Amino acid sequence: MTELCTLWPEDPIPEHLKNCSECGLEKHGTRMIWGEGNPQAPIYILLDNPGAREDRENKPFLCGTRQTLQKAANEVGLTADDLYVTFVLKRRPKKAYDKEETRKICINHFLEQIQLNKPKFIFCLGNVSVQSFFQNTELDVKSLREEWHDMLGYQNTVAYHPLAVRRRPNLWPLFLDDWMFVAKRLDEFK
Ligand code: SF4
Repeated sequence: MTELCTLWPEDPIPEHLKNCSECGLEKHGTRMIWGEGNPQAPIYILLDNPGAREDRENKPFLCGTRQTLQKAANEVGLTADDLYVTFVLKRRPKKAYDKEETRKICINHFLEQIQLNKPKFIFCLGNVSVQSFFQNTELDVKSLREEWHDMLGYQNTVAYHPLAVRRRPNLWPLFLDDWMFVAKRLDEFK
């Protein structure tokens, strides 16, 4: 079992997508992150895009998003083996770009990932993730959390983005409730 609160193994980029340039983000110069954790996990977490992975000296470090995410997982008893984390955009944008169009293009890679691995649940963190997965820019976390939704044949629920939780500590109890909601559902399946 992989330890929590540590760097999880990166899922390699599929060979045919290593040089993907479908959305133009390759021009931003950030490396592509396909996902991390266990690709066979029952819970797929969808975030907006990868955060910083390496510091200025190119040493890997755990960004705030991953620290908060792992802390919540830990508190509700989920292990790293239960989780796979991936992104709407597989590269971190560094300058202005057409957000809506870029998300529309890259979310197709996520749809391929879930078609291939068939997770039991999809857990969207943050409004960008929610709106991209549901393909509806009117939706938000606040109105969808604490419920299960059926989307594209997958059971889905949502929570705030870990960075929002770091910035607004009053969201932490809600965040934890949402993680508990997912952990309980997984228990029912075991
Ligand atoms: S962000 Fe997605 S669509 Fe854009 S280059 Fe990377 S993999 Fe391709």
